[in-house]
Amino acid sequence: MNFMGLVSKGAKCNVEGCENDGARSINTTKVENAHLRVNSAGKKSVLCKEHYKEYKKESKDDRELERARFDKF
Ligand SMILES: [Zn+2]
Repeated sequence: MNFMGLVSKGAKCNVEGCENDGARSINTTKVENAHLRVNSAGKKSVLCKEHYKEYKKESKDDRELERARFDKF
């Protein structure tokens, strides 16, 4: 399975209660830092388009408040 960017077909969003198809795989820590609750056991979490949008929004806010934490982003 390729986790470098786009999610392979069939993967579902890992956000709790979400049944949408996955669009992106993101580092689970980063997803949690963006205040999204995921039930992924791995290092990567799959997000659907909607949650990816939310993630982008939240992580952007976070980056401004806690810039140091996102040095590797
Ligand atoms: Zn979702």
